[in-house]
Amino acid sequence: MENCIFCKIVAGEIPSPRLYEDDKMIVIKDIEPKAKLHYLCIPKTHFALLAEMDEEKAEIVKHCFATIPKIEEQLGLCGGYRVIVNQGENGGQTVPHLHIHLLGGEKLADF
Ligand code: 5GP
Ligand code: ZN
Repeated sequence: MENCIFCKIVAGEIPSPRLYEDDKMIVIKDIEPKAKLHYLCIPKTHFALLAEMDEEKAEIVKHCFATIPKIEEQLGLCGGYRVIVNQGENGGQTVPHLHIHLLGGEKLADF
């Protein structure tokens, strides 16, 4: 997708170190961390909203959520973490490419 910052990161057009990568997703550090550790799990396929999910995209989302617990230790997310998927304007989504925030590395404030 043209002009999508996360598609550019996935394509390597904008350099961003990958803490994890497989055929369906990458994990990078958020550029403006909201917690001691703040990662973004970004599917390699462009779509903005959970509402757009078809079977193929559902497999991608499932893969992301299944993979996160497998890499939580290597990401330093010991002792728990918060998972956030902002959706649309009211949800505070600023990048219209679906992504999963992983926040941790400290005791987070009550939600
Ligand atoms: P949203 O507000 O859409 O849920 O989250 C977008 C996140 O992407 C924000 O937390 C923002 O700091 C992060 N972000 C925006 N641009 C970049 C970038 O170029 N590199 C990285 N690593 N994170 C970015
Ligand atoms: Zn994109």
